[in-house]
Amino acid sequence: MVGAEAKTRGLGLSALAPRAVQSEIRAMSVESDRVGGVNLAQGVCDTEVPSVVAEAAIAAIHEGHNIYTRQDGIARLRRAIAEKTERMQGLVVDPEREVLVTSGATGAFHAVAMALFDPGDEVLLFEPFYGYHVGTLRSMRVVPVAVELEMGTWALDLDRVRSAISPKTRAIVVNTPSNPAGKVFTRAELEGLAEIAKEHDLFVLTDEIYEHFIYGDAKHISMAALDGMRERTIIMSGYSKTFSVTGWRIGYVIADAKWTPAIGYFSDLLYVCAPAPFQHGVAAGIETLGKTFYAGLAMDHEVKREMLVSALRDAGFVPHVPDGAYYILASMEKLDNLLEGENAAEKARSLLKKTGVAAVAGSAFFRAGKGEDLLRFCFAKKDEDLEDACRRLRGLRR
Ligand code: PLP
Repeated sequence: MVGAEAKTRGLGLSALAPRAVQSEIRAMSVESDRVGGVNLAQGVCDTEVPSVVAEAAIAAIHEGHNIYTRQDGIARLRRAIAEKTERMQGLVVDPEREVLVTSGATGAFHAVAMALFDPGDEVLLFEPFYGYHVGTLRSMRVVPVAVELEMGTWALDLDRVRSAISPKTRAIVVNTPSNPAGKVFTRAELEGLAEIAKEHDLFVLTDEIYEHFIYGDAKHISMAALDGMRERTIIMSGYSKTFSVTGWRIGYVIADAKWTPAIGYFSDLLYVCAPAPFQHGVAAGIETLGKTFYAGLAMDHEVKREMLVSALRDAGFVPHVPDGAYYILASMEKLDNLLEGENAAEKARSLLKKTGVAAVAGSAFFRAGKGEDLLRFCFAKKDEDLEDACRRLRGLRR
């Protein structure tokens, strides 16, 4: 109807859309490809896929597992996830009611946030943070509230957590081991957070996608395994990293049966189901690969960590050595202006230009104005590519 009061908004983007810019991580990957660089920017994890995993996925295609699965995933994979969770974490999980297979941990977080939060709710997360956690919450008009970890040691200050809580706070996001700092939350830290969560009746969303990437004396502990935390803890994880299949999009949620139907509903709306043949591939991997595989994975990556730490030091960076995951945040404070630029994003481009190694600006993991003297490097690369990157980095001083 054409009338004076019948004005529509007309063509245009949503209020959120102008914020939806390409992530710095993806931008650096594009730049790296353009100049034929070695990409240590994105956590693509291009190490070998375990053959049992790859073969089972190929066999599943030939056997006709190419149609939609149940939205919560094939029974075989849900059972495998439940058994592995009991074996490794001591958590008894019902594969019929408490496990959902999702489209990656990314899809898991999205569906969980849609099921549990309303616009205007606040959710605490720790800085440096994983940008997708922030972006996903914002995309739902949920307010991410960053709580700073101690720079460099990444120690958790529980008083800071307490003072960030408001009547609108609904949850705390814990990413352990973390991207980008490689922080592995200690039992004492998790217990402190658990107390706060109980006191304020909050959910704890725990992203444990790097659970098998643990170095030295660090130990992965899931919040869900702490006394009295099962009902309020939502585990989100997946196999992108463990089996080097980031492109397969196989993740999962473990949660109390009170929450899984709603989370599953949104996962279905967003993605329908995770890719069918890849669910079979991952199930075969979990069933077949045992302690030796996981120990080998951690050991291999610890060696890669040492390679990159040493090259970064030789190049003049001050790397913060991670206890877990596969990223290094390295400070540029002692680089003597070898890199040009006013901020971390410009310096990352200068590093790419001078060495052909792509890294991500530290500012991508902090609130505005912070992280400008840091770059993040990923070491989940094939040895020959990592060696090449290390050689190029050492060349920075020559
Ligand atoms: N969570 C964290 C902390 C990550 O670092 C990443 C990938 O970099 C993901 C989730 C993405 O996982 P997925 O590939 O299962 O969506």
